Amino acid sequence: MIYDSVSQPNDVEQTIPSLRTWSEVYVALGEHYNPFGLFITLIRPIESRMSNIYANDYRDMPYWWEAAPREPLTQPDLPRTVDVAVIGSGYTGLNAALQTARAGRSTLILEKDLAGYGCSSRNGGQAGTSYKPKYDRLAKRFGRQTALEMVQEGHRALAYLKTLVDEERIDCDWTQSGRFIGVHSKQAFDRLNRNYAKTPSEIAFEYHMVPKSEQDTEIGSQLFKGGCVLPAHGSIHPGKYHLELLRLTTEAGAMVADQCEVTTLERKSNGFRLHTARGTVDARDVVLATNGYTDRQFEWHNRRILPIGSFQVATEVLPDELCRTLIPQNRVISDTRLIGNYFRLSPDQKRLIFGGRVTFTEAGSRSGTQTLYQQMLTVYPQLAGVKVSYGWVGFVAYTTDISPHIGMDNGLYFAMGYCGSGITLSSYFGMKVGQKVLGTSEGKTALDRLDFKPWPNIIKFPRVLSGITRLARVAETFGA
Ligand SMILES: Cc1cc2nc3c(=O)[nH]c(=O)nc-3n(C[C@H](O)[C@H](O)[C@H](O)COP(=O)(O)OP(=O)(O)OC[C@H]3O[C@@H](n4cnc5c(N)ncnc54)[C@H](O)[C@@H]3O)c2cc1C
Repeated sequence: MIYDSVSQPNDVEQTIPSLRTWSEVYVALGEHYNPFGLFITLIRPIESRMSNIYANDYRDMPYWWEAAPREPLTQPDLPRTVDVAVIGSGYTGLNAALQTARAGRSTLILEKDLAGYGCSSRNGGQAGTSYKPKYDRLAKRFGRQTALEMVQEGHRALAYLKTLVDEERIDCDWTQSGRFIGVHSKQAFDRLNRNYAKTPSEIAFEYHMVPKSEQDTEIGSQLFKGGCVLPAHGSIHPGKYHLELLRLTTEAGAMVADQCEVTTLERKSNGFRLHTARGTVDARDVVLATNGYTDRQFEWHNRRILPIGSFQVATEVLPDELCRTLIPQNRVISDTRLIGNYFRLSPDQKRLIFGGRVTFTEAGSRSGTQTLYQQMLTVYPQLAGVKVSYGWVGFVAYTTDISPHIGMDNGLYFAMGYCGSGITLSSYFGMKVGQKVLGTSEGKTALDRLDFKPWPNIIKFPRVLSGITRLARVAETFGA
């Protein structure tokens, strides 16, 4: 369940068992059971820090929706037949639809909620090359040439986004800010340095290592043991980017039906019949672009995608000088911990936007906001007492091999599984899957040959994931 309703701090305290209300339960129990007394004493300092983190105008929604609101679209009747139906209106779906609509194919985008409701209006706006599997491992498995081609897809994805923004004059606050990667241990620093230094020339990229003694120029935090700068990476306003894509696809002639869930996909001899909340549509080709929101009616894909909640907060407006000291070069920031944080300043450089993984129970953004606040203080203790104005959650899609997958299963096209770094990858592979529908040779990608494996059922139990995360954190504490 995702909570997105607008709410005031008082509602938060009344409806969600915050630390304060839990402590009241423990206090009540403590009156009868003495062992709870010690626990109460221990959590009281945390409780007093946490009960007052919400700004008066706190909203349980993505900060991005202020400048790029999610509004219902006008709802004409659905066409009875189309050439192409695209399920999902995020970056993947819209980039696919842009290709097919511009090629003259009648194209219908179907969205379960409001347009762009998924990750594409909720992300951190950090745009990079993003392809996660390491070259060395890929080379061992697929051989040198294929591995190079796979990693190059990530480079092409960033180049595609930059060109798209530039050529289509997309107004989305794109800035080539560069990225600073904070490194969590001395060993990790040496490892990163070694790995980058031996990058084959075909996939070389610009970077420079920053020792801990010099990292003040990049970040106002003592948490990291140095880091690395990747100057080619940048930032966008994710909500504005999405609305601009929506404008381009509709200008190209595609129709977008929001609040129109595809409930069943029926295979027919000449394509598909889509049963939706607003009637049926026949389509010759269908693209599934549902990523971390892939439900069980798409069983084959649902088994291959692990949805993981990623949370973010945006602070209240901070003094300019404070913002400058937090991230002096206005870069986007991520870190090398397995379950790390990612953060940046807002496009107007007045707020900190801080994200990370906080819970495996997906209880909603309100409880996530509190945990994330603690993580923010771990990086920036100087922000103690600062209030948060926005908190939200979205679901990213993990695959067993941490690689996106693109292709066709049983006649159904798909592109998904960006493993939390999908701004550039979903734009690029969305465009590619659109070209696949058109049957052009440009639609080929180096990932076409990847085997899209299902997750074992056991991994979908929150407690199993939670246990794995804890083990990873313990390992990192000991410098792994
Ligand atoms: C909090 C957060 C922070 C992130 N930060 C970054 C970042 O800084 N950098 C980065 O590169 N990536 C980031 N990402 C990941 C990135 O946003 C995603 O990879 C990308 O937006 C995926 O786009 P998509 O179009 O494939 O999926 P989505 O944008 O999630 O769209 C899928 C859509 O499908 C719809 N849908 C599902 N089922 C149906 C159905 N049956 N019928 C009709 N519609 C349906 C959903 O409602 C949803 O709107 C982040 C993600 C989150 C959640």
